[in-house]
Amino acid sequence: MSVLDLARPEILALQAYSSARREAAQAAVMLNANEAPWPPSGNLPEARALSLNRYPEPQPQALIERLAELYGVGSSQILVTRGSDEAIDLLLRAFCRPGVDAIALSPPTFGMYAVCAAVQGAERIEVPLDAQFGLDVRALCESLPASVKLLFLCSPNNPTGACVPLVDIERIAYALRGRALVIVDEAYIEFADLPSASGLLAHHANLGVLRTLSKAWALAGARIGCLLAGAEIIALLRKILAPYPVSTPSVAAALAALTAAGMSLTRQRIALTIAERERMAIALKRLPAVLDVLPSRANFLCVQFEDASRVYRTLLNGGVVVRDVSRHPALGGFLRLSIGTREENSRLLELLIRGEAAA
Ligand SMILES: *Cc1c(COP(=O)(O)O)cnc(C)c1O
Repeated sequence: MSVLDLARPEILALQAYSSARREAAQAAVMLNANEAPWPPSGNLPEARALSLNRYPEPQPQALIERLAELYGVGSSQILVTRGSDEAIDLLLRAFCRPGVDAIALSPPTFGMYAVCAAVQGAERIEVPLDAQFGLDVRALCESLPASVKLLFLCSPNNPTGACVPLVDIERIAYALRGRALVIVDEAYIEFADLPSASGLLAHHANLGVLRTLSKAWALAGARIGCLLAGAEIIALLRKILAPYPVSTPSVAAALAALTAAGMSLTRQRIALTIAERERMAIALKRLPAVLDVLPSRANFLCVQFEDASRVYRTLLNGGVVVRDVSRHPALGGFLRLSIGTREENSRLLELLIRGEAAA
């Protein structure tokens, strides 16, 4: 059997829209896409250089090749999307029939899996993390209902910060072969100093990996993410992709970040972030108001306070905004603190120390 047997039959049967740019990419005179023949008005200097009057390539070849090299996969195994958020949505739409199929996830985890499932009308099967915020591998392997078509594993997990070991990912992918796709969201893997699950793609047709330039690559505003998966899955999702999803300036920004110089700066910044994460974890654990700091492999710390809402307000009054994740039942008292520059992190610490003195 093929993994495509898991997809919605109407998507398999769909005749994709064929955009003008796809039919004929380049010619001396381009009169096939109803574009303006001149640069846009306004004084943005890049507009002319980037030919912003033209539609972009549906899947920018230069970026695909660069990302394939970076992630160690073939160029037919990459789909470039508007952030990995768009890839999550495309997976739901291609694999889950509304009112029939389901996704599985292990809360507390990233919120977009549940949102995309709700928009698509797919049921949500929850297999919660255990008391130490570890994955219930056995339940995922043995007790998911047949309606589950997609399982999302977030590694490092947002907001708890722990990674799923590759052996567990493999075990789960093997257990669910022919039944469901296992999607590993590696938005923060650069900060984990661990190998990506993309190395397992060759052996598991039902595996996919989400990557993004939004976090370690400092390009959240460019909205560039991607799905790495088998070529058949990528070809299927291309059928339902918007005609021109990634904008020309975003592709230019991504290619600039992925030059040798860009990569070397990014590596330094990742190292700095990891060092700051460890400094902050130690400093936070010393504060009496801090009950717990979860071990993190990402660029944030999930921290439990005696009185999280008071800490949240103290920080906000001091000009520092953090993420309140305490609404989740398993995360009572927890705030998620992103790692900023050394100065920003120190400012947060000072506010906490001063807040304790005042209490
Ligand atoms: C930030 C984040 C994303 C979204 O990334 P984009 O590429 O910016 O859409 C995906 N997954 C997780 C777990 C995240 O925290």
